[in-house]
Amino acid sequence: MFLYNRVNKEELKKKLAEETFQRKTISFYRYHILENPQEFRDELFRDWFPLDCFGRIYVACEGINAQMSVPEHHWKAFIKTLERHEIFKEIPIKYAIEDDGKSFYKLTIKVRPKLVADGLDDGAYDVTNVGKHLSGVEFHQHIGEENTVVVDMRNYYESEIGRFEGAICPEADTFREELEIVTDLLEDKKNKKILLYCTGGIRCEKASAYLKHKGFQDVNQLHGGILEYARQINTAKLDSKFIGKNFVFDERLGESVNGEVISKCHQCGKPCDLHTNCDNQGCHILFIQCPECAEKYHGCCTPECADEKVKGTGRQLDLRIGFGNSRKFRKSLSLMKAEQEKLNVQ
Ligand SMILES: [Zn+2]
Ligand SMILES: [Zn+2]
Repeated sequence: MFLYNRVNKEELKKKLAEETFQRKTISFYRYHILENPQEFRDELFRDWFPLDCFGRIYVACEGINAQMSVPEHHWKAFIKTLERHEIFKEIPIKYAIEDDGKSFYKLTIKVRPKLVADGLDDGAYDVTNVGKHLSGVEFHQHIGEENTVVVDMRNYYESEIGRFEGAICPEADTFREELEIVTDLLEDKKNKKILLYCTGGIRCEKASAYLKHKGFQDVNQLHGGILEYARQINTAKLDSKFIGKNFVFDERLGESVNGEVISKCHQCGKPCDLHTNCDNQGCHILFIQCPECAEKYHGCCTPECADEKVKGTGRQLDLRIGFGNSRKFRKSLSLMKAEQEKLNVQ
């Protein structure tokens, strides 16, 4: 058996569209020392491929982080595969808020040096000395209290479309940047109650340990992240203090928590929270685009990209700077391109 996907994207997507069964979209992570991540990775692939599980899973010496979809008729068999490994013992599984089961179309399991890239050396700080875990309801109650600071530990393109009321949302494109910016922003708030949150909780594990290392006294984190918060306040029938959409790293690129739209189309400025990748394959930049602009620009980020796509020259414009570009879009597309041209000249 091959331990990697060997079918092309179009065929995989077609197959997914033709499926007649339901899928559950789930996520889970755990910090746990793995002696041989590659071997563990191969074992998971052998377990999950025959069950038609799809998803994006990262395995590292420090643990696992998984976002995946599992066919409902294979759910029991899937749980059985988890039970075979110590790392999955009583692991909390989070379920997607909006789930059409089409979130992934293939199974990708990758071995990485770290689960969350913080750009710091192993041993730079104690990653196990984490902050206090708050349940969704506890977190909810603390928001708005005196002497508390709410901090979004996600990247800018994530907080742009949805965030907690009053949260500090640093203009960071990567987690590494985020750690630096947050430490600076909170410099004079070392004695305040810090409330950290991210999508599923994994980034806060590291961020809270880092802030404690930097001398913060009262560091708290939303256990299970926005995903778990949304589930808990639904059950408890509380009004969401999270406004807008929760950005997710799958085909959907976002799921609505309270139905409010807090961001704008990067091209015309109309209220919009639809993320898309530029349809010029040489660009593929991530940005927010409304349906009208999508039609006008052929799904591209600029007239130049639209031009490339229509001509179909396949010429690579090489405008891509990185995955998280929305704040640069916000500043203005032309400025971004000028910056990039400068980079190309250098
Ligand atoms: Zn627009
Ligand atoms: Zn483009």
